[in-house]
Amino acid sequence: MSKQGRVCDQKVKKGAACAACKLVKRPKKEDVPPDELCNYCNGKCCRYIALPIDKPTNYEEFDYARWYLYHEGASIFIEDGDWYLIVYTPCRELDENNRCRVYPTRPQICRDYSVDKCEYEDHYLFDQYFETAEQIEEYAEAILGPRPGGSFRTPRP
Ligand code: SF4
Ligand code: SF4
Repeated sequence: MSKQGRVCDQKVKKGAACAACKLVKRPKKEDVPPDELCNYCNGKCCRYIALPIDKPTNYEEFDYARWYLYHEGASIFIEDGDWYLIVYTPCRELDENNRCRVYPTRPQICRDYSVDKCEYEDHYLFDQYFETAEQIEEYAEAILGPRPGGSFRTPRP
């Protein structure tokens, strides 16, 4: 599985190049042999890291979640009841053509990932998704009740 080329997500006729960017339209997954799929992808799976985190159950633990979300590129999502920290940051080894520079020696986690279940056609839809500290604070207050000592949420204007 290697990566090459760039494709366009705009609505253009199948096989045609987009008039704006001159790139070819991304084909449907079902229309592409599995060993060629990455050739039509911008390396989606190489542009973030996601790690499971413990589900926060009290304000002290929600405070960690709030700290995560103060960082640029960091979000938290919940999928099937499991919590994850996701940081949108491209791999340094992804080259300008969306190819892996270290393909022969890429880490095991990359080797274990397969096009069978990859996010080629996903649109990052999660059961629940938090992008800001205020969102997680609001969620914590809904679950736990008012925070002792007062809320961290921005006052209403
Ligand atoms: S998301 Fe799928 S198609 Fe895209 S680079 Fe990763 S494995 Fe290949
Ligand atoms: S090492 Fe290669 S396959 Fe793994 S995330 Fe980086 S670019 Fe992608």
